[in-house]
Amino acid sequence: MSTEANTVAQQGRGGRAMLELQNLVMRFGGVTALREVNLTVNEGEIFALIGPNGAGKTTVFNVVTGVYRPTEGQIRFLGERIDGVKRFKITRKGIARTFQNIRLFHNMTAIENIMVGSDAHHRAGMVSVALGLPWHRKAEREGRALAMELLDFVGISHRAHDHAKNLPYGDQRRLEIARALATNPKLLLLDEPAAGMNPAEKVALQQLIRDIRDAGRTVLIIEHDMSLIMGISDRIAVLDFGQKIADGLPDEVRNDPRVVEAYLGAPADAS
Ligand code: ADP
Ligand code: MG
Repeated sequence: MSTEANTVAQQGRGGRAMLELQNLVMRFGGVTALREVNLTVNEGEIFALIGPNGAGKTTVFNVVTGVYRPTEGQIRFLGERIDGVKRFKITRKGIARTFQNIRLFHNMTAIENIMVGSDAHHRAGMVSVALGLPWHRKAEREGRALAMELLDFVGISHRAHDHAKNLPYGDQRRLEIARALATNPKLLLLDEPAAGMNPAEKVALQQLIRDIRDAGRTVLIIEHDMSLIMGISDRIAVLDFGQKIADGLPDEVRNDPRVVEAYLGAPADAS
């Protein structure tokens, strides 16, 4: 890591390195989505990943969560290599995400959507579910209580028994966050969580993200809304055509000539 990068890392709020991308390359056939990306997210910070559409932001999430094995380079989570590790194992290690295109079970209720993603559900196992064994009933009860707490935490407990498809868009995004939190992640990845939200919902989302950070989790967020990003981020990295072109404190990034040219100066993204 360069001296400059070290300085930036030390200026941030965070503690030790939580997520480290080292010379990460991701190619899809002829398309190079990530070009030698180096990035360190420290424990306890809200870190934003910004850049124009097609810059490679979602691809970062996909390689970090094991959807794709990177073509080259390494990914470390709390010092341990996780590139190429299977998705469910990465979830167990403490990384959870939401999706740019919301992925809920539309015909399940809000609370059921969370229970499907929770630890208790998986621990209970299919056999005990089928037989209705006591262990399963206890796990189900605990899972339900936890799901209810999470719905309350994200501010939609009054929607617990509504089908996901009937929730307003902003509430669906909150439900996705609650579902991700149900796996008790150390690191939460949010892919454009404010997309489709109205201004009031965006303000509430900012507070929710701070609450998540203040509860001891680290947040890596992709988002186009610059006032939201500037309002909550401890540090920001900018991707452009698969390359990291800047990395630093919000004020440094905002005034970086390369960022202004590649992103901030450009017409606003449709998001
Ligand atoms: P962003 O999230 O910054 O908008 P993406 O990470 O989704 O960008 O995409 C970066 C580039 O990689 C785009 O050119 C996109 O078309 C390409 N890409 C992403 N995933 C795939 C894939 N599975 N197969 C082929 N190309 C992909
Ligand atoms: Mg994307």
